[in-house]
Amino acid sequence: MPDATRFYIGGSWVEPQASRRGQIVDPATARPIAPIALGNAADAESAILAARAAFAEWSRTPVAERLRLIRKIDDGLKARQDEIGDAISAEMGAPLRLARGAQAGSGPQHFEEIVRLLESYEFESAMGSTLVRREPIGVCTLITPWNWPMNQVATKVAPALAAGCTMILKPSELAPLDAVILTEIIDEAGVPPGVFNLVHGTGEDLGDTLTGHPEVDMVSFTGSTRAGIAIGQNAARTVKRVALELGGKSANIVLPDADLSRAIPASVRGCMLNSGQSCNAPTRLLVPRERLEEVCSLAKEAAEALTVGMPADDPDLGPLANEAQYRRVVAMIEQAEGEGARLLTGGTAKPGELDGFFVRPTVFADVTRDMAIAREEVFGPVLAIIGYDSVAEAVEIANDSPYGLSGYVWGENQSEVRAVAAALRTGMVHLNGADLDSAAPFGGYKMSGNGREWGLYGLEEFLEVKSVYGAK
Ligand code: NAD
Repeated sequence: MPDATRFYIGGSWVEPQASRRGQIVDPATARPIAPIALGNAADAESAILAARAAFAEWSRTPVAERLRLIRKIDDGLKARQDEIGDAISAEMGAPLRLARGAQAGSGPQHFEEIVRLLESYEFESAMGSTLVRREPIGVCTLITPWNWPMNQVATKVAPALAAGCTMILKPSELAPLDAVILTEIIDEAGVPPGVFNLVHGTGEDLGDTLTGHPEVDMVSFTGSTRAGIAIGQNAARTVKRVALELGGKSANIVLPDADLSRAIPASVRGCMLNSGQSCNAPTRLLVPRERLEEVCSLAKEAAEALTVGMPADDPDLGPLANEAQYRRVVAMIEQAEGEGARLLTGGTAKPGELDGFFVRPTVFADVTRDMAIAREEVFGPVLAIIGYDSVAEAVEIANDSPYGLSGYVWGENQSEVRAVAAALRTGMVHLNGADLDSAAPFGGYKMSGNGREWGLYGLEEFLEVKSVYGAK
């Protein structure tokens, strides 16, 4: 089991200054599996100062050398992919195939994309007679959640290293084990001391220091909108750059001409993937009112075909990632029933004799747009079906959300599908599917965040721009 009781600061594994400890809990059994050190402000500051001390040299390190190290990390992530998947499965409950596949595989995927970019990226370009230089922004704090833990860590660490930044990573205190393995890989690759630092702890204990310290130049955060707002406010006092990837309540518009036999099962599977704990999950299914009953029966059938069980048995859904999340999802299901939504399948009863934090795939019909289940992020395997009378109304309902992360559109008429995509106020739209491309920008409009991750846009988040006049 990776050791989360030490921090990695200035190129060494060190004992925390704080004495507080927590437990990492396996959500499939509700039993603790490993201790974690919960750092304090002094731990955070020593990591920040190590990153500051390493910045001047790392920022001048030739791109070829940064590339060599990033390739070595990529090799390490591939060599240890199954081990990383097992750690993810243990700490947040993803079924083994998902954990070893899409979850652990996202690490090499993002590192490879950054290698590809860095091989040809121009850090200097001419604009008329002016030279425009792209320079690393500086010391970066990277804070990540528990739902796709390696994906979120890799989308920050790979571009930050590539840009020439130094960094402090604070992964979720609920699922930090995969980040410990990444740190071992970075250490073995020979990344210079202080370039990458790892601390553990809660937002409460470490957050203010990590996001407000004057020696931090940028905060890249993925997590809840609530924490994102607090972080943005704290970072504003010293005018740091802040990149935020926050929550979502993504609408999935099924147009009147859509092939329901294809659209509905795929939409249900997409909503339930990772037990519904994806920020971009298609959680609001908007369907033409005249096809509602047909959709309901297909959605019920698709949800009931999904298996729920212990991650090691490779079901479609494992447990929710932790107890707090489980309680929140159960409370939201109860609230939806209380507000008059019709439960088609699922609900609060645990499947079988399982002890952990399990929720069955749950589908609600007769959802109206004012219900909490239609407005708030559930972050669990819960689908809300909402009827519409016209495509214009569907678009209006879709955009009637404080969030704007993803949108999904199903339909046969390409020009109509594209017109709906253009009308959605979201950072991403998926047409007749749910494909993602690690070269394309990932991020949201409105309260889903600011800035973009992945690929070129993700790399440039970590770069400053300098105009040099008279250079020619
Ligand atoms: P969270 O906001 O509670 O915690 C995320 C991380 O932030 C953790 O590491 C936590 O310790 C830290 N943190 C919390 N408060 C902080 C503070 N005040 N200062 C500094 N750090 C703080 O979120 P979570 O429960 O771990 O994750 C679930 C949320 O993440 C969901 O809302 C989901 O939509 C969102 N999410 C968004 C994306 C995206 O890319 N848009 C991706 C995945 C998850």
